[in-house]
Amino acid sequence: MLLKGKFAVISGAAGVRGIGFATARTFVEQGARVAILDLDADGARRAAAELGPDHLGIGCNVTNKADCERAVAQVISAFGRIDILINNAGITQAIKVWDIDEANWDRIQDVNLKGVLFLSQAVMPHMRAAKSGSIACMSSVSAQRGGGILGGAHYSAAKAGVLGLAKAMARELGGDGVRVNCVTPGLIQTDINAGKISDEKRTEILAGIPLNRLGVPQDVANVFLFLASDLSAYLTGNTIDVNGGMLI
Ligand code: NAD
Repeated sequence: MLLKGKFAVISGAAGVRGIGFATARTFVEQGARVAILDLDADGARRAAAELGPDHLGIGCNVTNKADCERAVAQVISAFGRIDILINNAGITQAIKVWDIDEANWDRIQDVNLKGVLFLSQAVMPHMRAAKSGSIACMSSVSAQRGGGILGGAHYSAAKAGVLGLAKAMARELGGDGVRVNCVTPGLIQTDINAGKISDEKRTEILAGIPLNRLGVPQDVANVFLFLASDLSAYLTGNTIDVNGGMLI
């Protein structure tokens, strides 16, 4: 049991077919108690109930600082501590760069990037006081290759921003025993892209993946497990690709 006695917060885990829920289930299997924070409050409660009676589902909009603080306070009053934060909530939009307007830009930056800052800030005082903690943030291969799959340029920019934010947090929090790392998944089959990939596009994408398959949520959950656990005790400011070899 890699996470026995640990308390984890995972954002964006209300959808049971998503990466966040696969991560929550994996953490529970490894002994953790989990709090799912999601914009979809009912979904978060249902997902937590599916994990068992010891877990929490809380409505939280990660773009709202006060909402993040309220949700984290709720977790602390139930769990007493937070050892792990998985910043997983995110949205995408397939759009060409010439069509992105200010509202599109702001929405994508707010959820994917500002949300990582606000939720991390809400959890930080508890981890710093405990002199330990692991924060893992969701970026994307889109940050590394400039999109080209489903997200627009604003999504690539936000996910690239996550890499810089995570490195800066890793540098500043290291002295307090708090580690911060990122994952950069390739194309993972979830609701975010369900029904949006034509057979032709799928064939084209597979041709660029040496392992010759799309990813599944468990592929990413396993890496979050590594980053959350003491197996990665000497890793901070790192980024782990989970993409089947797409960037070789
Ligand atoms: P998903 O749609 O199942 O998960 C996203 C979750 O985020 C949803 O539960 C949604 O309700 C929640 N959410 C959206 N806005 C929110 C907000 N403002 N506050 C709180 N929660 C909010 O899709 P997924 O594929 O599991 O995505 C999880 C993460 O992985 C996202 O950050 C996504 O950008 C990233 N990602 C996905 C892929 C992929 O191919 N699926 C690849 C790389 C990165």
